[in-house]
Amino acid sequence: MSTEGQTFDTIAKVDPEIHPMMLAEVKRQRETIELIASENHVSKAVLEALGSVFTNKYAEGYPGKRYYGGCVNMDTVEDLARERAKAIFGCDHANVQAHSGSQANGAVYLAVLKPGDTVLSLDLAHGGHLSHGLKVHMSGLLYNIVSYGVSRETEQFDMAEVRRLAQEHKPALILTGASAYPRTIDFDAFSDIAHEVGALHMADIAHIAGLVATGLHPSPVPSAEFVTTTTHKTLRGPRGGMIMCKGDYQKKIDSRVFPGSQGGPLMHCIAAKAVAFKEALLPEFKAYQQQIINNAQALAEGLVEKGNRLVSGGTDNHLMLLDLRPAYPDVTGQQAEDWLGEAGIIVNKNMIPWDERKPTQTSGLRLGTPALTTRGLKEAEMKKVATLIDKVLRAQGEANAIEQVRGEVLDMCGAFPL
Ligand SMILES: *Cc1c(COP(=O)(O)O)cnc(C)c1O
Repeated sequence: MSTEGQTFDTIAKVDPEIHPMMLAEVKRQRETIELIASENHVSKAVLEALGSVFTNKYAEGYPGKRYYGGCVNMDTVEDLARERAKAIFGCDHANVQAHSGSQANGAVYLAVLKPGDTVLSLDLAHGGHLSHGLKVHMSGLLYNIVSYGVSRETEQFDMAEVRRLAQEHKPALILTGASAYPRTIDFDAFSDIAHEVGALHMADIAHIAGLVATGLHPSPVPSAEFVTTTTHKTLRGPRGGMIMCKGDYQKKIDSRVFPGSQGGPLMHCIAAKAVAFKEALLPEFKAYQQQIINNAQALAEGLVEKGNRLVSGGTDNHLMLLDLRPAYPDVTGQQAEDWLGEAGIIVNKNMIPWDERKPTQTSGLRLGTPALTTRGLKEAEMKKVATLIDKVLRAQGEANAIEQVRGEVLDMCGAFPL
């Protein structure tokens, strides 16, 4: 549905160089199986808002307090986006101007931390995000980052260990949320630990926002001081970020987004966020999120039945991490990503906890179901996808097998048009 009408007729006349590139991307999205856990296909309505004249307008400031004239429609749109966000998540305040998830996180850091302050966050190699303390990200450059990981035994968070680290290092801020953690996160337990040691809790729900929005994952909004998210992953809106906070932090957060770290808001994105939030408030959206989980269960079962190992043994959410080592000791995540890509199955290589390989090689693959679920695939198709993945991995790059799977992928994409 979301690539319908994407023929770019005006661009064809104005810019014949980029036009074929755009058509090629539409074709690629139509003809491949998208398993990247952080991607999705937005609705036609969201695309329409993104392609609207709202991109023409400067609206520095906030509704009712702008630095430019002519903002009457910016105010109503931004107010609507904020009100809908509050209705979805039950938060006191929502800042919808953050250009991205990383920008949202940076604004919270600026609001509550001084350079050199200690932050306790999830190790990147255990599923964390670069904006939670990568050495060359502003978080790693400005703050003293201490990391927690998953337990070796369960490959899930060990709350006793998190508490021990919090007591030892006395962080100013504890970060939760992940880019590659397949299990339910006990946000309340993290809040308890934060408050025991006098820290604030920022929960980054970028990946699971759609599940949280529909009550299919516990919400950190009641217990965490700050909840940040992207709007383009399971939430299925435009690329962008958002910060939710308790009322007493509203002024500080808003001022650290603008002018603290950004200039003019992307008003076309904010209009598209409002549209996506409207969609997220519909009953169909909850059914969609439930199907994402059902599909992840089916894909995980299918892979395990074929003899593959999943980190932590399975998944509670929309994604899983396939550990290539037991079944394919010589195959790297990079090779697997390349072979699957040739077959039209799009995945990303990913570090697994205690990975011996470099981040550019890795021993794992991250697989997620949000995009395929948008496309209409259900449990039976997910079992089929598991079979196709297994076939490619087993063939170890053999051209005939890849060609065969490519054909089956095209058939499946044809049966579930975008
Ligand atoms: C994707 C992600 C982000 C950042 O998103 P960008 O919009 O790419 O900056 C932040 N935190 C987590 C946990 C994520 O998964």
